[in-house]
Amino acid sequence: MEHTRLGYWIEEAGEAVARPPLNGRVEADVLVAGGGYTGMWSAWYAKQLEPGARIVLLESEPLCGRGPSGRNGGFCNAMWFSLASMRERWGDAPALEVAAAAERAVARIGAFCEEHGVDAWFRPAGYVQVSTAPAHDGAWARALAACRELGVPQMLQPLSAAEVQERCQSPAFRAGAVSPTSATLQPARLALGLRAQLLAAGVEIFEASPVRSFREAPDGVEARTPGGSVRAARGVLAIGSAAKSRRGPLRGRLTVASSHIVLTEPVPEVLERIGWTNGDCITDSRSLIHYFRTTRDGRIAFGWGGGRIAAGARTRGRAEVDADVAAVATAHLYDYFPALRGRRVTHAWGGPIDASPTHLPAVTTLPPHRAWVAAGYTGNGVGPSNMVGRTLAALALDRDDDHAHLAFVDARTPRVPPEPFHWLGGESIRLGILRKEEAEMQNRQPDPVSSAVARVPGLLGFHIGR
Ligand SMILES: Cc1cc2nc3c(=O)[nH]c(=O)nc-3n(C[C@H](O)[C@H](O)[C@H](O)COP(=O)(O)OP(=O)(O)OC[C@H]3O[C@@H](n4cnc5c(N)ncnc54)[C@H](O)[C@@H]3O)c2cc1C
Repeated sequence: MEHTRLGYWIEEAGEAVARPPLNGRVEADVLVAGGGYTGMWSAWYAKQLEPGARIVLLESEPLCGRGPSGRNGGFCNAMWFSLASMRERWGDAPALEVAAAAERAVARIGAFCEEHGVDAWFRPAGYVQVSTAPAHDGAWARALAACRELGVPQMLQPLSAAEVQERCQSPAFRAGAVSPTSATLQPARLALGLRAQLLAAGVEIFEASPVRSFREAPDGVEARTPGGSVRAARGVLAIGSAAKSRRGPLRGRLTVASSHIVLTEPVPEVLERIGWTNGDCITDSRSLIHYFRTTRDGRIAFGWGGGRIAAGARTRGRAEVDADVAAVATAHLYDYFPALRGRRVTHAWGGPIDASPTHLPAVTTLPPHRAWVAAGYTGNGVGPSNMVGRTLAALALDRDDDHAHLAFVDARTPRVPPEPFHWLGGESIRLGILRKEEAEMQNRQPDPVSSAVARVPGLLGFHIGR
């Protein structure tokens, strides 16, 4: 098995010619720091809204899309499974507006690929949540009720155990629910395609250009990299988990966890045998979630969000390459799909997850209203980053449109404790949840300490789950 930092998707998508690092002083209308989906969609929509604007994007890696945006599971979802949680935080109408915007974002990504000839393997698909333990049955009930009560019952549909098995046979699966208007894609192909379209549209991209300082400047903002500086009227910080770093703008608002994926060799005949040919992407209902999908060449990509909590924003090391977590993911892959016994896992990789206390993305205005920072997707950013990018573009260009007023802009969220308490607490809670969920999977009563520890986030106003 090839276990690397960047993973299979990036390898499969192939190389691109890197843009040179920033060298010298540059002026811009909008500066975007971070060349993942959020930064790239922000730049894209800013250029669409104001074709004459000078947009500069700085990316620290040698190529855009080498972080989580190029390595994720490729589930491209709207946020219907989070509707109940959004409703609780923001109220009915604002929650529905965000869910509708996230729904449109999925369609927009498909249309973008179509219109610009980006072969990102975009495939409309159901997003299915299943239960794999009696304790998890009906985990989607609140989301279903929210859709029903807010007049959008078609967005989430319940599935009986038999209906789940019709879509994908596994001895582990019980009943579930499906969000029918989702999609899957090849993440690194989308990132590279988006980058190519940005360049074609005239966005100036500087790669291998980490922003070392970002501050207010007369009438705007200034970012410095090792080779130069950019002064711009407005700034967008879309640096993912790095926003949690010691001096990062979201150090009190994020937890950096990690997620890892293992990939099988092509197994199209196994997919035929278990009836998993409709392209559905599937998750179980654990907090330390398993997520799995098929690929164009008949592989199964199987991810597990149970990776360790990083101290501060240590986004390298075990946040990216963790053999223990990949081994657990592999074991769970065969538990869920015994039909794979004897078939090989060929690749493993992982990456940091920017988890917010609400498990919802957040856009935060930095004083004095000239820059915005966005993160907190908690492992669900592929679709929503398009929506957030559109919002960031509106804010950076002072457009007072609907996108600028979606409920995740400057929403109140609980704070996380400072380090090292945050890491100590976060790891204890992760281990408590892990033990509780393992007991539940074996239909055992979890031990009282693990159950109590798993309840702590809720008592602090944090939300774990969808
Ligand atoms: C293993 C894994 C599986 C996942 N699966 C899914 C999934 O199936 N579906 C889903 O919706 N989401 C999934 N996610 C989450 C999803 O990948 C993210 O939510 C999404 O990519 C966030 O995009 P972003 O642009 O905000 O952040 P990132 O992709 O993290 O991009 C941030 C960029 O900023 C750059 N950067 C950092 N610091 C600096 C600096 N100082 N200066 C300049 N640039 C900087 C980074 O190099 C990076 O390119 C997964 C994530 C992982 C790790």
